[in-house]
Amino acid sequence: MLKINIPENANRIIHTLQGAGFEAYIVGGCVRDAVLGRTPEDWDITTSARPEEVKALFRRTIDTGIAHGTVTVMFGKEGYEVTTYRVDGRYEDHRRPSSVTFTASLMEDMKRRDFTINAMAYNDEEGLVDHFDGLGDLKRRRIQCVGKPKERFDEDALRILRAIRFSAQLGFSIDEGTRQAIREQAGFLKDISAERIHIELTKLLLSGHPEEIRTACELGVTKVVLPEFDKMMETEQNNRHHMYTVGEHSIRVVQEVPPTEALRWAALLHDVGKPDTKFSDDAGDHFYRHNQVGEKMAGGILRRLKFDNATIDRVKRLVLWHDYGMGGQVTLKSFRRSLSKMGADLFPDYVCLKRADILAQSSYMRQEKLESLEVLKGYYKKIQEEKQCLSLKELAVTGRDLIEQGMKPGRDIGEMLSYLLECVLEEPEQNQKEILLQLAGEKLAQKQ
Ligand code: ATP
Ligand code: MG
Repeated sequence: MLKINIPENANRIIHTLQGAGFEAYIVGGCVRDAVLGRTPEDWDITTSARPEEVKALFRRTIDTGIAHGTVTVMFGKEGYEVTTYRVDGRYEDHRRPSSVTFTASLMEDMKRRDFTINAMAYNDEEGLVDHFDGLGDLKRRRIQCVGKPKERFDEDALRILRAIRFSAQLGFSIDEGTRQAIREQAGFLKDISAERIHIELTKLLLSGHPEEIRTACELGVTKVVLPEFDKMMETEQNNRHHMYTVGEHSIRVVQEVPPTEALRWAALLHDVGKPDTKFSDDAGDHFYRHNQVGEKMAGGILRRLKFDNATIDRVKRLVLWHDYGMGGQVTLKSFRRSLSKMGADLFPDYVCLKRADILAQSSYMRQEKLESLEVLKGYYKKIQEEKQCLSLKELAVTGRDLIEQGMKPGRDIGEMLSYLLECVLEEPEQNQKEILLQLAGEKLAQKQ
C-alpha cells in the first residue's frame, strides 16, 4: 500500500478528529506532491467535522475562511488548514461561488475539485482514496479535469489557468479533452479578477517550464489575459540579430533568467514594445525606441494585473534599460552616469536579463556582445569596490550642509545637489565635503 509520511502535527489533527468519531484525511496538493516525491508547501486536511466541531477539539484555532468551512489549527507557529467536506453553491459569471454547503460525503467533496491529480485524499488507516484515477494521471503525467471539462471551466474559469500552471510546474501534458475545452472556453477568463490572473501567470513564469506560456497562447488564453503577448508571437524580426519571432525570442529569455518575479516578467515583456515600433527597410526590420515604448506598455500591463508598485517600477526599469550597453564602446565615465540613472540596485538583474537576451538572439556577434557585457561588469565591480558615489544620498554633502553655508532652503538646494552629483559622476575623487562646498561656492559666485 502506498505510504505517505504525514508531518507529526497533521497526523495528530487527523487522529484527534477520528478519535471524536469524524473522518479526516490529508487532501489535494499535498497528496499529489507527496506521491510525486515533491515537498508539499502546505498540508491541508479535509474532514466530515463541521467548523464548530473542529474548533471544539483544538486549543488554538483561527477562523481562516469559516464561511467556506476552513479553520486553521495552530501548533506553535505551525498552522494546518482543516476544511469541512463541502459542495460548492451555484456558480455565477464563471467564478467560484461565495456560498458553500457542507456534506457528510468525501466523494462529494472530491467531485468539486479541479483535476484528478488534485482530487485524492489519504490517511494512514485507509491509504489513498482516489475515485478519479489521479494516481494513473500522475503516472501518465497528465492534467485532466474531474468530470466534464466544459462544465468545470464553465463553473470556474480560473481552472483554465490553473491547468496550464500545473502543467508548467509539474512538466505534465494537458489531456486532449481538457485542452479542447480550454480552447472553447478561454473567453470566460474575462470574468476572473486581475489579482488571480496575476497569481497564476506569475506561478507559470516562475515554474520549471515557463515555455508553457506558448500553450496558453496556442489555446487562446493569453488572447484574453495578455493580448500583448499574442502580438509578440505574431511579430517577425528579420534582421541579423534575430532568428525567432519577438514572442519566441522572449520565451527563450524567460527560460534563461533566474526565477524571480521581476526578472521573469521583465524577460517576458522586455520586447513588448516591438510590435508597435517595427519598420522595415533594405537592411531588414528595425524597432527604434522599442525599449521606451515597452517601458510604458509593461507599466500598463502590470498595473492592469494589479502588481505592487515596487515590482512595477523594477520591471519598467529593466525593460527601459535592457538594450543598454551594446552598440559601440562604453567608457567607464559614461557607464557611471548610466548606472546612476538606472539605479545601481538594478544592475545585477540587468546583467541576467542582458545575458539571456544575447543568448536568445542569433549567433551573429554573440561573442562580441557577451564581451561588451563583461566590460560593463568590470566597470561595475570597480565602482562598487571604490564605493564611488552614484546618487544624491551618497554625496559627501547634504542639503543641511549647504544651508549652513548660507544657502536659502528651497529649490536651489535641490538644484545645487544635482549639480554636485554631476561633478562627482564626472570625477569620483571630488566626493569630499570640502571640495564639494568649494564647488558649490564657485557655482553660486558664477550665478551672481
Ligand atoms: P499549490 O498550493 O501548490 O498551488 P494546490 O493543489 O495545493 O497547489 P490550492 O490552490 O492550494 O492548490 O488548492 C488546494 C486544493 O483545492 C487543490 O488541490 C484542489 O483540490 C482544490 N482547488 C483549488 N482551487 C480550485 C478550483 N478553482 N476549483 C476546484 N478545486 C480547486
Ligand atoms: Mg496548496
